Amino acid sequence: MRLFEAIINANHRAVAGDSSAGLHPAEFADELPIIALTCIDPRLNALFPNVLGIPADQFIWMRNAGNVITSPLSSTMRSLALACAVKGGREIAIIGHTDCQICQTTTTVLLDKLKAIGVERHLLPENVNDFFGTFASERQNVIKACAFVRTSPLIGPKVPVHGLLVDIETGKLEWVVNGYDAWQLPVAAAKNVFSPLVDAATKELGAGPMASFNFGEMKFPEMKIGELATKIGEALTPKEGHESKPAPMVAMPAPPLPAAAVRPPKVPLPPPLRPRVVPPRERR
Ligand SMILES: [Zn+2]
Repeated sequence: MRLFEAIINANHRAVAGDSSAGLHPAEFADELPIIALTCIDPRLNALFPNVLGIPADQFIWMRNAGNVITSPLSSTMRSLALACAVKGGREIAIIGHTDCQICQTTTTVLLDKLKAIGVERHLLPENVNDFFGTFASERQNVIKACAFVRTSPLIGPKVPVHGLLVDIETGKLEWVVNGYDAWQLPVAAAKNVFSPLVDAATKELGAGPMASFNFGEMKFPEMKIGELATKIGEALTPKEGHESKPAPMVAMPAPPLPAAAVRPPKVPLPPPLRPRVVPPRERR
């Protein structure tokens, strides 16, 4: 049984009330950590990573509004690629959720809401839907995102790309795209002929400058990722007392399981999955 087969199996058992349902991460050491792209909806804070039954330290969590991928070379795609290459992510999961507000927001409503916060229509691209990647079906959005990731030249064929939908009320997972078998055959061909598709996709999505992007001409400066940002930060920060340390990570909500229970971790019973009030941690 492979990792996501075990995840789905354990999740469905847990949702059905089996308190013994859980995952043994040690059995899937070759398939962890995973990278998950989810929506920004705060209701998901209480769900992940426990609905997957994997420990927090094996869960690389990326989020954007609507778990949207707008093109095979988008900013989110680049982060996914670095999460694989630099952070060692072995499998990718695009995880949409039910009752997604990004899905339910019409163009008219979106424009009204933007206007209410001072964003003028004439400063926005003509096709606001394409620009923000808004969508009408959570499921189709996941499938589309998986297609972009699977055919992106930034993601190697060895990395399975799964698509899932999580029920925000029950925590039940639906496996929409099986990354183990759904894309195996087309990938090699897609990579070989992909340059024109990338151009077309980026042009269609309004990323004008990227349409003429040429990987062959890409220059890789001998500078570590983040070094430039650090230099800019240094330039903008008063010298006195400044230390060039990276900004502290924002603490994720504490996982519901204590460390001692991680072996074997149990998939917590999801219902009712409502935002939990986490007691404030000790401040140093
Ligand atoms: Zn959402």
